[in-house]
Amino acid sequence: MHILSKSTYIKGLQCEKALYMQKKHPYLRDKLSIEQRAKFQRGTDVGVLAHEVFPCGIDMSPNSPSQFPKKAQETWNNLSNPEVKVMYEAIFQYNDTLIMLDMLVRDGDRWLAVEVKSSLRLSDTYYNDAALQYYVLHGCGVPLSDFRLMYLNGDYVKDGPIDVKQLFKMESVMDYVVEKEDFVAQNVERLKAVVALPHSPVVNIGTQCHNPYPCDFQGHCWKLIPKNSFLFTTALDDHTLFQNYFNGMNTNAMMLQQIDSTSEEAHQIEALETNSYYIDYKILYSLAPQPKPKSVAYLNLLLHRPAVPELDGTRPYEEMILAFALQGEHEYDAAIDPSLLTSLRRDDMAAENCFVWDCFDDHSRWKEAIGLLIEKLSHYEQIVCFTPQNLTTTLLRHEIIQNQAVGYKVFNLFEVLQEAHFYHPAIKRGLTLQRLETALFSESNLFEHSRIILEATSNDLIGYQQAREDLIAENEIVAKTYQQLFK
Ligand code: SF4
Repeated sequence: MHILSKSTYIKGLQCEKALYMQKKHPYLRDKLSIEQRAKFQRGTDVGVLAHEVFPCGIDMSPNSPSQFPKKAQETWNNLSNPEVKVMYEAIFQYNDTLIMLDMLVRDGDRWLAVEVKSSLRLSDTYYNDAALQYYVLHGCGVPLSDFRLMYLNGDYVKDGPIDVKQLFKMESVMDYVVEKEDFVAQNVERLKAVVALPHSPVVNIGTQCHNPYPCDFQGHCWKLIPKNSFLFTTALDDHTLFQNYFNGMNTNAMMLQQIDSTSEEAHQIEALETNSYYIDYKILYSLAPQPKPKSVAYLNLLLHRPAVPELDGTRPYEEMILAFALQGEHEYDAAIDPSLLTSLRRDDMAAENCFVWDCFDDHSRWKEAIGLLIEKLSHYEQIVCFTPQNLTTTLLRHEIIQNQAVGYKVFNLFEVLQEAHFYHPAIKRGLTLQRLETALFSESNLFEHSRIILEATSNDLIGYQQAREDLIAENEIVAKTYQQLFK
């Protein structure tokens, strides 16, 4: 049986304790977020499509972990079978380390190793992945002609059926992985020794808990840290916070003694102590809309960026509008063009004062959103939203506005709250509408925004209906927040 795999090796590079926990106590792991699950699924879908670049291969994927030894033996036998030209998920094991290689392609008397990534660019983690795989392949004695990373080509524009040869591009990392072989060998030995320990290694919490990836054992390792610890503040960087913590300043009171009482860090600690949120009202009010708009619409756009382009004329990860919810305040209802209403499906109207449009069942209709938005937004003086993206840029990109001199102003609560230094312990992991709801209203009725995308792309009528309801629920929180802060 193997001790390390690609994922446990990468985990071990981040933190030895995370590796140990993953191997010995995986049940203590935090639940995967919807966003993480969607990312895994995206990777699988792209990987299967990439097989078409080197078609007619033999799939070596095991049905269960117990099949690893059998599949590793079959992979090995196939290497010497001239009939086998391509293998998918070929399994190799060397020095207790098991890898599954996306594609192994016969190249004369040697083999081309290919690892597929569902992203538009390569990161350090991908290079580390490849280095481990090369270490195992070389250790097993597989003669390689090259090792390449295959990833999505951002310049590819779909025109008819997907042309996989254009959709992907490849980069040789052979020089890099050869150079890293000793580094990998040392780490493999180190990490194997960690797994063999009779108990978990002693590792203090630290910057590695969030970097390069949020560790999924934080629920376990951080359980003794008080929920109101200054370690959950965001005004100072993680490195400074942990430095203070390990230099003996491990309570809020001690930290407050050391820092300027008017600093942002001090305000955040006070918010933690009083179990509330902090906002710089002076800045907030300076950002308030002036003069007060007579008509306001709350807009929630549901944007979708499929890794593999779905529609002709689009590129990988190109954005489309899958749906929007628009909730207007006064004056607007009378202004709705009755002829437009009759052309909409009954389902599109969710509530008297809330307009919902979607193209869940047929994404090729997505550009209908543009005309509808141009018409509907023009009835308002101000458009309020909550999005980490710049909404004006999004509207410009889709030509919903031609330039910024339109009759309404965009007011993005996300940007406004960040500018006003809004803080609540929950936002340590980023400001989301869900966390904002918890902070301002002590409620948590919302969910991860990514869930709406999953529902909207589920090919399921119940999912579609749920996505519409969730879009409206999000918009209602935006409206409630705006009203609480500015009215
Ligand atoms: S939470 Fe931090 S200390 Fe604990 S396993 Fe993860 S990275 Fe290591």
